[in-house]
Amino acid sequence: MWGGGGREHTLVWKLKKSPRVDKIYCAPGNGGIARDAECIPIAAEDIKGLADFAEKERIDLTVAGPEVPLVAGIGDLFASRGLKLFGPQAKAALLEGSKLFAKDVMVKYGVPTAAYKVFQDSDKALSFVRELGGPCVVKADGLAAGKGVIIAKDTAEAEDAVRLIMEKRSFGEAGSSLLVEELLEGEEVSVLAFTDGKTIIPLAASQDHKRAYDCDQGPNTGGMGAYSPPPVYTEDLHAQVLRDVLEPVINGLAADGIQYKGVIYAGLMLTKKGPYVLEFNCRFGDPETQVVIPRLKTDLFEVMEAVVDERLDDVQLEWDPRAAVCVVMASGGYPGSYAKGKVITGLDELPPNVLDFHAGTALTGEQLVTDGGRVLGVTGFGTTIAEAVQSVYAGVEKIHFEGMHYRRDIAHRALKKGLKICDPA
Ligand code: AMP
Repeated sequence: MWGGGGREHTLVWKLKKSPRVDKIYCAPGNGGIARDAECIPIAAEDIKGLADFAEKERIDLTVAGPEVPLVAGIGDLFASRGLKLFGPQAKAALLEGSKLFAKDVMVKYGVPTAAYKVFQDSDKALSFVRELGGPCVVKADGLAAGKGVIIAKDTAEAEDAVRLIMEKRSFGEAGSSLLVEELLEGEEVSVLAFTDGKTIIPLAASQDHKRAYDCDQGPNTGGMGAYSPPPVYTEDLHAQVLRDVLEPVINGLAADGIQYKGVIYAGLMLTKKGPYVLEFNCRFGDPETQVVIPRLKTDLFEVMEAVVDERLDDVQLEWDPRAAVCVVMASGGYPGSYAKGKVITGLDELPPNVLDFHAGTALTGEQLVTDGGRVLGVTGFGTTIAEAVQSVYAGVEKIHFEGMHYRRDIAHRALKKGLKICDPA
């Protein structure tokens, strides 16, 4: 496994359950992953170091957690050395690596997405947003660690966004091109699917919470919580997303000579006109993985191997019918600056139906301490979302570290105003 966040911990935890898996290594891992895998110090950008390690240790299957190595071509390097890696090669990973490429594919194959215009020149982008004269979304083309998207509610904010991305280059080279996009309205849903480039098998859907504070207030974060399944995501919608989004994209790429193998993540806006694609990611989502993968009953190793060996048509996924809710516990100050090294207590007191997936934790000797912005993803289960909410917060209340911050309203959309905190009425 490559990575060291809550997503990777969840995948390691699940892979470890497979009778086919004897030993897991994780580079670099974290304090919690160390429970389930041997952590090895290979730097995040050291693609060659990872391939050398996989060769030397005769690793049967490597799983790339984050997008950066995939976009940089870790899939191609492993394939060229005859090593098995779960994740798309660089050409397919461009679906996340370039928003412009993703838009071109969507337009070519008729996938519903927001209307947009592309700019390489800030003056032209500025006059366009002035002409538009209303709300819009301004996006840096390249990878920007989930931060290159700015929702502008008026022309002044849109102008600021263009300057930030293109003139100040706040997201580096990711901002050498930008997209100005129509603002869509609706509820957001994340849909992941396994594919070997021919067969597509969607996973259970989920919804996440990006804002730092309750009632979806405050700055955007990597994600403060998630839940699955979302009540808005009906069987009909599921069929529609497979037919109108996933199949045209995977089959369209194949027709263009690009085989997509791995997991594809579609970020969707459920608009009045139907599901529209906001973005594609070429890997599992974080914290969506922390609610989707624990609900998967099927052996994850077998599924991933079937993807790599292109025999996904043999696979059927089985799901735990229970709902899962994940609450992210963050360091005080996150997503801004925060302290590290705070002692974490209470994990040994968690109720049996609550799981702790570690993101920013480290071991100093025997002591578990905070080591990042998002520290833990705590996942609880229940026969309903409301029950899962109760169980997850019963777990969260046991945990403590100085300055900790978490949202108290995760899954409020699913509970339909069940939590007064987000119901101003
Ligand atoms: P992206 O990385 O493109 O998914 O954008 C990050 C977040 O920005 C999404 O999860 C949405 O909340 C929001 N967003 C992106 N594009 C749009 C759009 N066209 N209309 C409304 N919100 C958007």
